[in-house]
Amino acid sequence: MNINNIRSDFPILSRRVHGKPLVYLDNGATTQKPRCVVEKIQEMYYSVNANVHRGVHFLSQAATDEHEASRRTVQEFIGAASANEIVFTRGTTEAINLISSSFCREFCKPGDEVIISAMEHHSNIVPWQLQESILGIKLRVLPITDEGEIELEELERMLSSRTKLISITHISNVLGTINPLEEIIEIAHRHDIPVLIDAAQSVQHVPVNVQQLDCDFLVFSSHKIYGPTGMGVLYGKEKWLDKLPPYQGGGEMIASVSFEKTTFANLPFKFEAGTPDYVGSTALATALKYLSDIGLENIVRHEHEVLRYATEQLLAIDKLKIYGTAKNKSSVISFLVDGVHPYDMGVLLDTMGIAVRTGHHCAEPLMRRFGIEGTVRASFAMYNTKEEVDTLVAGIKRIAGMF
Ligand code: PMP
Repeated sequence: MNINNIRSDFPILSRRVHGKPLVYLDNGATTQKPRCVVEKIQEMYYSVNANVHRGVHFLSQAATDEHEASRRTVQEFIGAASANEIVFTRGTTEAINLISSSFCREFCKPGDEVIISAMEHHSNIVPWQLQESILGIKLRVLPITDEGEIELEELERMLSSRTKLISITHISNVLGTINPLEEIIEIAHRHDIPVLIDAAQSVQHVPVNVQQLDCDFLVFSSHKIYGPTGMGVLYGKEKWLDKLPPYQGGGEMIASVSFEKTTFANLPFKFEAGTPDYVGSTALATALKYLSDIGLENIVRHEHEVLRYATEQLLAIDKLKIYGTAKNKSSVISFLVDGVHPYDMGVLLDTMGIAVRTGHHCAEPLMRRFGIEGTVRASFAMYNTKEEVDTLVAGIKRIAGMF
């Protein structure tokens, strides 16, 4: 894996910010886009654009072919058994809202429970809270340790005949913890409970195979895996998706409509009301192919080395504390420097061209668990280098010296 070649595929990485070379370490929020993805979007609008699925004319068929081929690319990328199990959504958030709404409507009575963990993003908390108020379900929270690892032995104790679903993140966007999905899914399935995986922070960092994992649902966002914004994926086992009612109504998702009775389309179209983002889907497929060509195993190795180096260098800074010290971690580091507010750290790093995220990272309950308001978060992608880590470390030292 040649890091310079990879960096040259991302035009934005060579721009300057505040007169300094950009050091982009906010990849947990969104990743930058390689040239091939942006060119695919341009090609789709310049040469292929037409609405999909309905047209008999050449362009409509070409756009439909591209869109459906992209579904198969996603299917292959996550190892799904069938393209019918791939539903295109606007992102992780919409995919979780789809499942929480349709699943709870079909399978939950008042008092039934959904289990999440203490390290979830708001998008895997609030949709379930909406179902608490609509249907009277109950949200239960699996605790985590001070290192930021889930307390697996608690899970077994929390399960009961009322438990209807476990919805958990694969990798924490704040702590970087890689959760033990195999064990969680094994425990859940022993009790006939389905599992939804929030893979928003994982598919771009580690190989994910839904059939090997045996998860029932898995969701991710295109924009965090080098693809376009406004596009995402819901994977669901066919046996589950078949049983779920539609989430939204409209064109594309019907078999036939009359004022008396409407029937719904087969999978996956039942869950795709309205004109789909066929430009987004093809650009996402381009991003996945780009990633596969580089090889996720090479990306894992590189990012792990950057994480190891960054952790070592940051820990050497006086009064710096890292939040999230799980044994199995992805390339995210949340930290605080004693006496420096994370917001000040973020603003001052920005003046040096260094982009990090500060605040609660859409995980307020997790912040409360650690008794803090927020952190500074550096999140690394395949194009980040040890030299960029050095720039970050020098920046933090300078700022710490000012306070
Ligand atoms: N889950 C996790 C773990 C995330 O990190 C994010 C994005 N920060 C989301 C869900 C929500 O993703 P999106 O905003 O793309 O829907």
